[in-house]
Amino acid sequence: MRPFCCWLCVMGLLVSGCSPPARDLEQTTTRLMMGTLVTITTFTTTAQPQQWQERERQAVAAAFTAMEQVEQMASRHRDDSDVTRVNNAPRGELVVIPDGLVQMVRTGLEMSHRSGGAFDQGLLPLIRLWGFSEPLAPTHPPDPTAIQRWLTQRQQSQQPAIQLLPDARLVLRDDSVGLDLGGLAKGSALNRALAVLQQQGIDHALVNIGGDIRAHGRHGNRPWRVAIQHPRREQHILTTVELGAGESIFTSGDYERFFIHEGQRYHHILDPATGFPARSGLISVSVWSRHDSSLPLDGWSTALLVLGAERGLEMLRSATGIEALLVNEQEEIIRTAGFPAIQR
Ligand code: ADP
Ligand code: MG
Repeated sequence: MRPFCCWLCVMGLLVSGCSPPARDLEQTTTRLMMGTLVTITTFTTTAQPQQWQERERQAVAAAFTAMEQVEQMASRHRDDSDVTRVNNAPRGELVVIPDGLVQMVRTGLEMSHRSGGAFDQGLLPLIRLWGFSEPLAPTHPPDPTAIQRWLTQRQQSQQPAIQLLPDARLVLRDDSVGLDLGGLAKGSALNRALAVLQQQGIDHALVNIGGDIRAHGRHGNRPWRVAIQHPRREQHILTTVELGAGESIFTSGDYERFFIHEGQRYHHILDPATGFPARSGLISVSVWSRHDSSLPLDGWSTALLVLGAERGLEMLRSATGIEALLVNEQEEIIRTAGFPAIQR
């Protein structure tokens, strides 16, 4: 039996021009970046896995480098970032910023306008008061008088808090304002990573930055499938959705960074109107779109969590092509009609 088998194999190779059969190959690379796990998954069908793997490794490394550059520019935690340069400049002074940052800040200003101020990229002093994303997680809320002082200073001037001039110069109004692009950075990083993967000839990839995800191409003969985290059951999936080519999904929730104090949950997405963590009735927001840029989508997930279901969905109507899946405090799911098909 065995010689016959081998003979068939040899004949098979001869008939197919001596090339081994093509097979499916999925590769996953994970790094810790932007304070979370970043995973790039690629998919191909190839008869030359070694050549593919070499090319894939280079492309994936370049995509990670592109995301690192976003962090380098936009992180408020890095002493040498452009955002830190802006934050350290005296208030009222014009600071020249690079194009990538102009794009982010411009989107942030637009998001702020569209969300009636719920999205606010200038909250750094308030975020510092709360202590979220410091190395040691906070355990109790700050002194309420400090929050009140911040609110008063914020509201006393009619001048815009952040001004972006056409010649790429930025100015912050006073000490109540500081840049924190945590609500936009992942969108920018996903844009950059996908652009690099495409340039490097990767036809099918999925990039996942801590649950914010963008798809390119397909996973073989089906679309990519992604899971949305359950907001209250750790390690549990709320639902799985299919992501077509060029589609992104972003999730913001009150469960990512939080503490419980005297039975009350305090989380890292702050409501600029109250100075406290958003209590809009929503505990998780996922937004989906197939726009070329993921930047506004990143902003929308944060904004909707602050706005709540009613106001949020009302405002979302002005943004074409964005669909949402919301989870309220009763753990009920509310979804817009065009949100991608759910797999259970
Ligand atoms: P995550 O980064 O956890 O995925 P988001 O994309 O919603 O969640 O961004 C939350 C981050 O955005 C916060 O950690 C903080 O840096 C910043 N942020 C907090 N509140 C707001 C707000 N109202 N508008 C804009 N950015 C915010
Ligand atoms: Mg966001």
